[in-house]
Amino acid sequence: MYMGIVVQKFGGTSVADKDKLLNVCNHIIKEYNSNNKVVVVVSAQGKTTDMLVQEEKEISENPDKREHDVLLSTGEQITISKLAMYLKKLGYDAISYTGWQVPIITDNIYGNANIIDINTDNILKQLENDKIVVVAGFQGITKLGDITTLGRGGSDTTAVALAAYLKADKLYIYTDVDGVYTEDPNINPKAMKYNTISYDKMIEMAKNGAKVLHTKCVEMAKKYNVPIIVKSTFVENDGTIVK
Ligand code: ASP
Ligand code: MG
Repeated sequence: MYMGIVVQKFGGTSVADKDKLLNVCNHIIKEYNSNNKVVVVVSAQGKTTDMLVQEEKEISENPDKREHDVLLSTGEQITISKLAMYLKKLGYDAISYTGWQVPIITDNIYGNANIIDINTDNILKQLENDKIVVVAGFQGITKLGDITTLGRGGSDTTAVALAAYLKADKLYIYTDVDGVYTEDPNINPKAMKYNTISYDKMIEMAKNGAKVLHTKCVEMAKKYNVPIIVKSTFVENDGTIVK
């Protein structure tokens, strides 16, 4: 029995090393074995993107904008290939896609591009064949064929956009915190976790510096009315629903 399309997004901390990738495989396999069609979106591993920015600075303080996106988009490509390999090793058929292979079409604002369209044919075809589809977050391609990135933290936006275009039944954003709190729980231990939070309140919090979700991603979730379930990759609890 086919249940539905589930999109799961895992951030940089959740995919930082081999053990963490295997932990992510467990989350994916659990959804897949519940008869869902699973699309996974991942960030670059750990501090990879920061390191690329650092290396770029050594070349130029004012790098070419197009090449900046070509460089920064590479981190996610490493994660998708490794994750697909681990899933296959565990006996699950997976296939990786970069943003341009999907393709995820964006405008040409390098470094802060906006998704304008997604052709879902390739992904849907792979899901039909019972494959787990692993997509690189944070990147797309312009109509003229140039690679773009969506702004730091942009993998969340990729996940929301894919959930919207695929008409997914569920979208999970897995992260290193177990939900959205009234304040930063590392600063104020009395901060309380929301069970649910509105899009508008979440946008306000993101604009005021809450790092848990990318502002653009929440704006897009609101536009397409996609509820986001924010959960911890490491602790089992219900997390926060943004809706
Ligand atoms: N890897 C990118 C970044 O570090 C995108 C993301 O993690 O969402 O900003
Ligand atoms: Mg993030």
